[in-house]
Amino acid sequence: MKTTADAVIVGGGCMGASVAWHLAQRGMTNVVLIERESQLAAGSTGKNAGGVRHQFSHPANIDLSIESIAMMARFEEVVGTPIDFHQDGYLFLLSKAAHVVTFLKNVQLQRSRGVDVQWLAPAEAQALAPGLDVTGIKGATYCAADGVADPNGVTVGFAKGAQAKGVEIIRETEVTGVQLDHSRVVEVRTSRGNIATPVVVNAAGPWAKSIGRLLGVDVPVEPERRHIFIASPPAGGSWDDPPNAGKVPRSKLLVIDFETTFYFHREGGGLLFGMGDPDEGPGFDITVRWDFLPKVIDVAMRRLPAIADAAVSHAWAGLYEMTPDHNPIIGPSGDVDGFFTIAGFSGHGFQHAPAAGRILADLIAGRDPHFDLTPFAVDRFKRKMSRGEGSVV
Ligand SMILES: Cc1cc2nc3c(=O)[nH]c(=O)nc-3n(C[C@H](O)[C@H](O)[C@H](O)COP(=O)(O)OP(=O)(O)OC[C@H]3O[C@@H](n4cnc5c(N)ncnc54)[C@H](O)[C@@H]3O)c2cc1C
Repeated sequence: MKTTADAVIVGGGCMGASVAWHLAQRGMTNVVLIERESQLAAGSTGKNAGGVRHQFSHPANIDLSIESIAMMARFEEVVGTPIDFHQDGYLFLLSKAAHVVTFLKNVQLQRSRGVDVQWLAPAEAQALAPGLDVTGIKGATYCAADGVADPNGVTVGFAKGAQAKGVEIIRETEVTGVQLDHSRVVEVRTSRGNIATPVVVNAAGPWAKSIGRLLGVDVPVEPERRHIFIASPPAGGSWDDPPNAGKVPRSKLLVIDFETTFYFHREGGGLLFGMGDPDEGPGFDITVRWDFLPKVIDVAMRRLPAIADAAVSHAWAGLYEMTPDHNPIIGPSGDVDGFFTIAGFSGHGFQHAPAAGRILADLIAGRDPHFDLTPFAVDRFKRKMSRGEGSVV
């Protein structure tokens, strides 16, 4: 491991890897990325549903999506790794009058930024998603340019590209301390030795708060468990053949029942689905709570009756990385020179990794990122609660 570097990145998820790749593209290659697990994308990144959407309520998040999704569409060409990217759309189903009002405003905002989003009647939503029960739905929004991609592909692609340019990637190593000299970063301590550096990037996802603590900086990110279940078609058949054909969408369209947060999309030969649990508090436990499954199935059956007959073949849980306003923290952090954070994406970070990594790399490399980071500044929480992101599932 190097003993001196121009920057040390803590965390080998999609954020750390994106920052590393973008720094290398800017000629900053004397960089070390440190991951404590034996492989990259072992944290939230490796647990996520792969969804990418333009449909956010905060203009800054829509802008992150526009840039990130454009990059994902050209990822193999630009970064050199395939990411199984499908733009089959996101469909939000709205059953509460208040949500209809909010989403009508969101659609206006998204369109004003050049995103093509449609407002659909319930029957139109049903036509897009065969097998859907639209009872009680008042309206829906659909953006055909939304989709799904492979989180491991994105992370490993960025990491390999950075490595090829000279960035060092160290696994099975934990960052345990950061040495300051008069409020300036001078050294990172790890379980394998120390690295002299003027820059530390906190890309530790749900663990970002503990990295902040090493420097005495409050990084308000709390972990929250979220489950994903995979449903196989009944009797070991295929979702596309009789008797199951037409009971679930054929494409990778991602459908979200916004009121309950139940969502699903096709994943390989199965159907991936999940839902937030309003009773889940903060914590690092990622044990699968099988007693939560009946609650999810109860909601799911009402929207997608085919789930009633499906077999849940496996499940996992991972951590959302929640901030108080559900917007991320991107930029310099605290009164410490050389400390940067890129964390707290509140359950929608995978899709923003390309743009967020580009923006932070520009800042570190002394370039203008051409992006107003005010809504993502860590000190916003000290001033007053900002208008955050409302489209969180
Ligand atoms: C169930 C689920 C579904 C999701 N679905 C979506 C989705 O559809 N679309 C979407 O955009 N987002 C989704 N997300 C959110 C997304 O996964 C995260 O926002 C994103 O992966 C955050 O990436 P990260 O790199 O910041 O964090 P992580 O991937 O958690 O990476 C942080 C890394 O830091 C390492 N680390 C921590 N502390 C240290 C230390 N002291 N020393 C060394 N290494 C350390 C960890 O081991 C970890 O690998 C989902 C999340 C979950 C849990």
